[in-house]
Amino acid sequence: MALKTANEFLESIKKLKPRVYLGGKWVKNLLDNPVTRSMVMANAAVYGLAEDPANKEVMVATSHLTGGTISRNLNVARNIHDLDMRQEMALLTSQTLGTCNYRCVGCDALNSLAATTWEMDRELGTKYNERFNKWLAYAQANDLAVSGAITDAKGDRKKRPTQQDEIDVFIHHVEKRDDGIIVSGIKVSQSGAIGSHETLVLPGGSLKEGEEQFALAFAVRNGDPGLTYICQYNPYSAEREMCDDESELGNPIYGQRETSTMVFDKVFIPWERVFLCGETKYCGKIVTRFAKAHRMNYGGACKVGFADLIIGGSLLAAEYSGVEKISHIQEKIIDMVRLNETSHACAIAAAMKGREEPQGSGVYLPDDLFGNAAKLNTAHGFWEIMKNAGDIGGGLVVTMPRLKDLEDPEVGPALKKAFSATGPADKRFKVAKFLQHWTAGLHGPGTWHGAGAPQSQRFMFTVLTDFESKKKMAKKLMGMKE
Ligand SMILES: Cc1cc2nc3c(=O)[nH]c(=O)nc-3n(C[C@H](O)[C@H](O)[C@H](O)COP(=O)(O)OP(=O)(O)OC[C@H]3O[C@@H](n4cnc5c(N)ncnc54)[C@H](O)[C@@H]3O)c2cc1C
Repeated sequence: MALKTANEFLESIKKLKPRVYLGGKWVKNLLDNPVTRSMVMANAAVYGLAEDPANKEVMVATSHLTGGTISRNLNVARNIHDLDMRQEMALLTSQTLGTCNYRCVGCDALNSLAATTWEMDRELGTKYNERFNKWLAYAQANDLAVSGAITDAKGDRKKRPTQQDEIDVFIHHVEKRDDGIIVSGIKVSQSGAIGSHETLVLPGGSLKEGEEQFALAFAVRNGDPGLTYICQYNPYSAEREMCDDESELGNPIYGQRETSTMVFDKVFIPWERVFLCGETKYCGKIVTRFAKAHRMNYGGACKVGFADLIIGGSLLAAEYSGVEKISHIQEKIIDMVRLNETSHACAIAAAMKGREEPQGSGVYLPDDLFGNAAKLNTAHGFWEIMKNAGDIGGGLVVTMPRLKDLEDPEVGPALKKAFSATGPADKRFKVAKFLQHWTAGLHGPGTWHGAGAPQSQRFMFTVLTDFESKKKMAKKLMGMKE
């Protein structure tokens, strides 16, 4: 089968029967509920982007398994160009949607699995890579939307999985059978899992001997028995559910970044979908390789696309209130661009300095240091960008009435009088609502934590930086012998 169109994707989603809970009720049909629909529409738009010939180089790739045309979301990077196009895809999808490409985490997860299952087969004589490639060829042939589940609920962060009071805070197998494994546990903050055909589940971190029960990687189908998705719920969810006109919302069609808590209650996973089971030594590698790919794409491209939208909104806000030529406003815009382009430069560098890992596997991963730099720079820079947008947009960003109040016969005339400036009141409201979505919504902590809390990137800096060589070069220049 060729690439799915956006419509074919929507038809395929109608056939899924996930067990989804959102804000006090069970959602029977993802397209009927306005919140879950926004997530599904974002996924559909990503399929739509691949249909446009102008996006072909970025959105479409060639399968190394079959030679067929596939979505880049299901591609294993085989060279530097693939890495570069992968980060460009993250940029394009974010600029287009203003929310997640919900296939992004799955894409980075499958690249990590391609590398690590290859290594395991070579070193241990297992058949994981063969299995994984079969699954991947199937996913590619059917152009599946695949999300990625890494973050366990984790419980007490000081304790190992075996020390937790509640074992379900980490995904684990409860039984190994001839035909497969039975899995329980909870993954949290799962972007777009509800509206994906499948989820790739990876271990949440490094594991040690004695923790084999938690060492698992597998693919699970949406709607498999025992799997429940509990959706995030916040004021933006309530607003979307209650409003009678979605065009009033900050991101009308695609909404906020929608995640869910995925509860596995004795879910059966057949062996052909299991890509690691018990090999604790390789869990750290799987997670590190995933993070390598994801921090480049998330930090240096996806959030750069978001910030492009924030900068665009800020420029419009300035134009409509008459401050666009004032020097401190222009400086703030320049600062936003500086922070943003620095992150994107890190992603491009991470792609350009990428290399085959492990040697001989044919899988290319981005440079770790630049990928971590992209994510860390963005984690801090995004707050700064939001701060400047809030400054330029004025208090209206959080004090505005509803857009349609402008048409109310009683209060509309007063509102138009109050809020018309160099731009009309309706445009000022529209832009203020857009900036509210970014600066007063979920994107601050969302950007900070996604792809790992910044402390993880700081830690990677200490591991990846050759501090001794820096001291040595300074000493040499100073003429210091020892
Ligand atoms: C919008 C959004 C989308 C996401 N999408 C996905 C997704 O699709 N798939 C997925 O798998 N995950 C996803 N995540 C999860 C994301 O990767 C995690 O939020 C991130 O790794 C942080 O983990 P946590 O949320 O459990 O925070 P916590 O672990 O609770 O971290 C809170 C603080 O405690 C610190 N901390 C925690 N443990 C330790 C420790 N042992 N030692 C020292 N400090 C510690 C952290 O550094 C941080 O400062 C998403 C998150 C967000 C916000």
